[in-house]
Amino acid sequence: MADSISRRDFLQVTAGAVAWVESPFARAGAGVQGAGAATPPAPGVQGDAAVAAGWFDRPMRWVQLTLVENDPGRFDPAFWLDYFRRLHADAATLSAGGIVAYYPTEVPLHYRSAWLGSSDPFGTLVAGCRAMGMQVVARTDPHAARDDVRAAHPDWIAVTKTGEPMRHWANRDLWVTCALGPYNFELMDQIHREIVTKYKVDGIFSNRWAPQGGDCYCIHCQQNFRSATGHELPRTADPRDPVRRAYLEWRKARLTDLWKHWDATVRAANPDARFIPNGPPDLKTAGELAAIQFTDNPARHGLTPPWNNGRRAKEYRSVMGRRPIGGIFSVGVEEPYRWKDSVQSEPEIRLWVAEGTANGMRPWVTKFSGVLYDRRWLPMIERIYEWHFRHERYLRNEAPLARVALLHSEQSATYHAGVAEGDRAGDHMLGMYHALIEARVPFELVHEAFLTPDRLDRFKLLILADAAALSDAQCAAIRAYVDRGGSLLATFASSLFDETGQRRQDFGLADVLGVTFNGRIDGPMQNSYLSLDTESATGSASAPPGGPATATSARHPILHGFDDTSRILNGVFRIDVRPRPGLTFPSPLTLIPSYPDLPMEDVFPRVPHTDTRELYLRDHGSGAGSGSSQGGRVVYIPWDIDRTFWEVLSVDHGRLLRNAIAWATNEPSPVDVEGPGLLDVTVWRQRDSMTVHLVNLTNPMLMKGPLREVIPIGPQRLRIRLPAGTHAKQVRLLTLGTSPRVEQTGGTLTLTVPSIDVHEVVAIDL
Ligand SMILES: [Zn+2]
Repeated sequence: MADSISRRDFLQVTAGAVAWVESPFARAGAGVQGAGAATPPAPGVQGDAAVAAGWFDRPMRWVQLTLVENDPGRFDPAFWLDYFRRLHADAATLSAGGIVAYYPTEVPLHYRSAWLGSSDPFGTLVAGCRAMGMQVVARTDPHAARDDVRAAHPDWIAVTKTGEPMRHWANRDLWVTCALGPYNFELMDQIHREIVTKYKVDGIFSNRWAPQGGDCYCIHCQQNFRSATGHELPRTADPRDPVRRAYLEWRKARLTDLWKHWDATVRAANPDARFIPNGPPDLKTAGELAAIQFTDNPARHGLTPPWNNGRRAKEYRSVMGRRPIGGIFSVGVEEPYRWKDSVQSEPEIRLWVAEGTANGMRPWVTKFSGVLYDRRWLPMIERIYEWHFRHERYLRNEAPLARVALLHSEQSATYHAGVAEGDRAGDHMLGMYHALIEARVPFELVHEAFLTPDRLDRFKLLILADAAALSDAQCAAIRAYVDRGGSLLATFASSLFDETGQRRQDFGLADVLGVTFNGRIDGPMQNSYLSLDTESATGSASAPPGGPATATSARHPILHGFDDTSRILNGVFRIDVRPRPGLTFPSPLTLIPSYPDLPMEDVFPRVPHTDTRELYLRDHGSGAGSGSSQGGRVVYIPWDIDRTFWEVLSVDHGRLLRNAIAWATNEPSPVDVEGPGLLDVTVWRQRDSMTVHLVNLTNPMLMKGPLREVIPIGPQRLRIRLPAGTHAKQVRLLTLGTSPRVEQTGGTLTLTVPSIDVHEVVAIDL
């Protein structure tokens, strides 16, 4: 773990020793806001804990102003600079060029705003931000061009599947450029060089830099794909098609080359600057290349759950680790009709930003158009940023303290189409994510490309929510983690497919799960149930009596809370499996097969009980690894509990998942929170403190946004386990601004948070 040193401390010790302090663009003499941390140079940036040397980790609050073409001469730069100051913003991303240049560019074919005249609004804003000691990143957008570009270089324009040059879908005066050809590799490269050379900005941030408007069939894409793979461009979007798969991999490689190409140009003009893509080719590449990343997840739309912004933070942190991540959010409504000049309600914006902050993202507000039509958002964002500024030292996280991790598998999402119509891999993840939130379990995501002991062993439990597509090497890494004492909870088709989406004969993790695939997948099943069974002395299942179970004391603890029933809903799909030879399992949950659901006279179980297990539980010995004295355990659930939970949100499935997580983790949680409502709970370590974030997701508009009002919840009773060898010096509730009464017994704090409006942080000085 790279120990961070506060900027103030560091300057006292050795001013000028850190790259960004030496840089001519450092905020020398600037009003130092809080404790911006400079981190000693780390060997590379790939390690989870390593932060790249440079300015990247300093900004805590970002702003983005995206100019529109007629802004020059009409918008007021002084107003914006003053607003940035009032936000305590440390860094700005400002429109520079691409589709429209907002500075007097010399690059031929780089279109200057028709309103530019002799002005330089980009330069004015850069100078103003520099005067306030802010970092500045220039925004470019390469995805569209005008007729003169097409006339001079017809081959720079993207081509549709039917061979037509691609008109822009939203503005018919523009053409969509080919992202993978010379427009980006040559013209945009010159533009980036000019911007960084002229203004010495800290980076270039490109919006919509990957292919837009569908696949491109231009002459360059045809030739480059053919020479790389020997294939013609695919005409199908089916990821199971080998040529399509080759195309997806080629496109990723081409974008990675473009990233490296632009980054080299940017660094040649300013060694402290970087190219920062808006959206990496994939997260693995971001983990390998990026010093800083931004998530473009601006607001909810449709039925997006409010925890979605926190989820995006977790996804990026699964590859970025300790490196900084900015969470781009919009003040406007983000529905398909794209009301770009709109303003959302304050509760909606506050909840969205709180989810990002609680999950380790730094806020980045984005606004389009320098001229404002609706100013209601201005004080809202000021209130959010003021809170953030005031509590910055508790938001500069070093590491999460969660003990549960959920595997984030991009290859399953890309190459696994589900086992049948109606089974989408993403729904398993969503269901598990929601179950973890409801259970108030602090958790992280880990990424399939980085399953190293360094990343895995900080967790006691790894969850595979239908992580269907796993390579042999990934299975081996998970097997080794379990061998080191880690616990595993896997559902459904986890490891039944390889990394390209080809089905295996048996699970890649069959030995770990303790089961063998019988070759059959059932579903969709109508009207099927699960029997909650008591255990006989021999460990085999016995049928419950005709009525509700009575001998509840003989039930497995994983059935805790189901005392008044002998059955619950089954899922919709199930994988037919059998135990591996020589292994014995308890049998708390068995299959009640489907029976007619119509006519009503026929609705009775034809087979009231079977000995087909639908839950496989085992202890696997000592917990030498994973920092726990308790043994590791494995849970395998062969049906789609997570997917069905996401679809129907059965209380019983949520409870069963919570019990399974608790049983498999087999140690006390870092924090227990008891009280009403739906909360996202995260736990963090800072240099001299720890924090527990509580985000109130209890949404008065139920599952659909936007929120109208905040409905406070509480009281919440917390039990917090302090890191080993620490004790609490002071405890504060940052939003309420109070110090709660605290009982400290051994390493455990007990306290009550009386009320939470949107976001409360329990800050514990250690
Ligand atoms: Zn092309």
